Amino acid sequence: KIPPLYIITPTYKRPEQLAEITRLGYTLKHVPNLLWLVIEDSNSLSDLVKTRLKDIGVPYVHLSAPMPEKFKKSKNKPRGVSNRNKGLKWVRTNAVDGVLYFADDDNTYDIQIFEQMRYTKKVSMWPVGLVTKLGISSPIVINNTITGFYDGWVGGRKYPVDMAGFAVSVQFLKQRPKAEMPYRTGYEEDGFLKSLDPLKLTEIEPLASMCTKVLTWHTQAKKNPVAEPLNMTKYGTTNLV
Ligand code: UDP
Ligand code: MN
Repeated sequence: KIPPLYIITPTYKRPEQLAEITRLGYTLKHVPNLLWLVIEDSNSLSDLVKTRLKDIGVPYVHLSAPMPEKFKKSKNKPRGVSNRNKGLKWVRTNAVDGVLYFADDDNTYDIQIFEQMRYTKKVSMWPVGLVTKLGISSPIVINNTITGFYDGWVGGRKYPVDMAGFAVSVQFLKQRPKAEMPYRTGYEEDGFLKSLDPLKLTEIEPLASMCTKVLTWHTQAKKNPVAEPLNMTKYGTTNLV
């Protein structure tokens, strides 16, 4: 039997939300033995998201985890952190093996990456396209081993990687009960990966043909202007279909 994949997707209410969830959901529909953890940054579950998840037909768990109030006011919020930590907690409690991956709702995923990450022993990494002005963020691989990172913004990070560029073994995670994502904008990936200590750079498995191929992209939807106060019933149903 193939190992299960646990895909943690943070999402939040905005005009583009159902479009993002729909596109990602139909990508994930091509992937066998996958559980999609869709976690809303809200106090309650959205009926529109719930209905869409049922309609798409990918096995899912629908949860909510609001961003703590103290971060909501800041200009550069730690986006999706409460959601991902809730997902981590769910995986620790409910999963026994397989692999965990953080898939933001707006990114683009070639389904090949899911089959490659499925056999991650500890942590695997690969390039992500459309990150910063450089256009790519990638591990640097020499002799089949990750020796460093190429990224447009290093910022003193040990792991200058994008959220879409790594996966973690569930057993490896469960052996590290304190591992979680910090509420620190720009340092979410780095903080989480550091919290997986002990982990050696040489133990990280380079995927996507030794990091020579781009199979994931940090795409971002153009913000759509809204003429009226936001009403998700409209954006999900009446207006845009
Ligand atoms: N997100 C969230 N709450 C927010 C903003 C974003 O849950 O207030 C989610 C969003 O749906 C996405 C992830 O967090 O899955 C990263 O957010 P975004 O794509 O806006 O960040 P960026 O791509 O600009 O780094
Ligand atoms: Mn994004």
